[in-house]
Amino acid sequence: MNIAVVGTGYVGLVTGASLAALGHTVVCIGRDKEKISAINHAKTPFYEPGLDGLLRSVVAKRRLSASSDLATSVQSADIIILAVGTPTINDAIDLSSIEKATEQVGSALVGRRKYQVVVVKSTVVPKTTESVIWPILAKYSKRRADTLGLCMSPEFLREGSAVADATKPDRIVIGQMDEKSGRTYAKAYQNVRTPKIFVNLRTAELTKYAANALFATLISYANEISQISEKTGNIDVLDVWRGVHLDGRLTPLVGKKRITPGVVSFIMSGCGYGGSCFPKDTKALLQFARAQKVQSHMIESTIRVNRDQPLTLVGLLEEALPQLRGKRIAVLGIAFKPNTDDTRESPAIPVVKALVQKGAKVVVHDPQAYKKRPIPDFEDDKILYARSARVALTGADAAIVITAWDEYTHVSGRTFVKLMKRPIVVDGRRMYDSAALTRAGVVYKGVGLRME
Ligand code: NAD
Repeated sequence: MNIAVVGTGYVGLVTGASLAALGHTVVCIGRDKEKISAINHAKTPFYEPGLDGLLRSVVAKRRLSASSDLATSVQSADIIILAVGTPTINDAIDLSSIEKATEQVGSALVGRRKYQVVVVKSTVVPKTTESVIWPILAKYSKRRADTLGLCMSPEFLREGSAVADATKPDRIVIGQMDEKSGRTYAKAYQNVRTPKIFVNLRTAELTKYAANALFATLISYANEISQISEKTGNIDVLDVWRGVHLDGRLTPLVGKKRITPGVVSFIMSGCGYGGSCFPKDTKALLQFARAQKVQSHMIESTIRVNRDQPLTLVGLLEEALPQLRGKRIAVLGIAFKPNTDDTRESPAIPVVKALVQKGAKVVVHDPQAYKKRPIPDFEDDKILYARSARVALTGADAAIVITAWDEYTHVSGRTFVKLMKRPIVVDGRRMYDSAALTRAGVVYKGVGLRME
């Protein structure tokens, strides 16, 4: 099939490359000429493990190309996928990019005779596809549902494992305006053996929010328990979670082997969720629920706990180092999670802001995210970037570890003690052995752990 993907961000490019790997001819449409040229030279414009190799293969086979010419690209496509950003502004979803993209697609499709299907892959609140996207498409294309189909198929890929998620999806949810739309879109995935769920448009839209809000809620729940542990004292929240996780309903024994499903990793204390999805999607869902006259206590609390959680790290730091003015504080990790360079809504942002406000000299390291400087929302002119974790730690009065990058897990207690002026370590991800670090002479502070 010929497929056009509007948007060359994390979702657009990974989706395009995985569809090309399935044997389709794909064009990814973007606005940034440099990015388009990079993609056409098989260079990934952002860091995503495995994407380089996939891109090299599909570009070499001429299965994937990029273009800024939206009109020509969509005219010959059987399927047109919308994968543009849908950020949250003032806590509500901002549809301006997807409305504009839909208008452009609609205008380009005027008078085309062949049956084509437009697929919304961007995350949008229920009813958007039927009451915003379809009216724009119908108005600008002057086409009716018998020649122009419409689907809403939410994307579940996770940055850091996006290539595996997109090439081997757990399921494909296909919201369809009518059966023909869904059937045509499903053909693109006919060789992918995975459950395909055919539903109406608004069910598909809500499925995405329900999934993201579930994981965000588990994280906030775990963080609330961690705050209770800290305030109580003499409780290590890791011991609490060990006791909870061994419940056979969470980690069943299959034969003699205990299985740990992925969901268990969300029931774990840390410094809060971030990224381009959970924060904006929970806010958009809350706003949408209110518009439906549902007082969503769960989602509201999830958001509130997450807003406070990163700052508990600063509180832990101040217990060991009450006066932060003039102190050199190393912040390890600014990406919202490891294996991505994405810093959107990272817990590092409120932490660094609070440190700067308290007069600390902040030295930041991240193996990937620093390449994207200047980083939006970061007070870039007020912080220093170190080229390695060792450089960041050298002479530091304290360190806060925010992102669980593998390379940080290998920093030993001896290294902290050797490099730092004062070996105070605040572990925002509970990735170190607290006893081993303490034995090495580190003043160890971990989320959910306060010994009296
Ligand atoms: P992104 O910001 O990385 O990329 C969006 C791209 O769309 C940008 O490159 C932008 O320039 C481009 N764009 C906007 N309007 C355009 C137009 N008219 N023509 C051509 N290009 C245009 O966003 P993303 O992270 O890829 O997310 C896209 C959507 O997918 C969002 O709705 C998001 O919620 C959803 N989603 C994201 C993830 C994720 O992990 N990033 C996962 C699942 C779903």
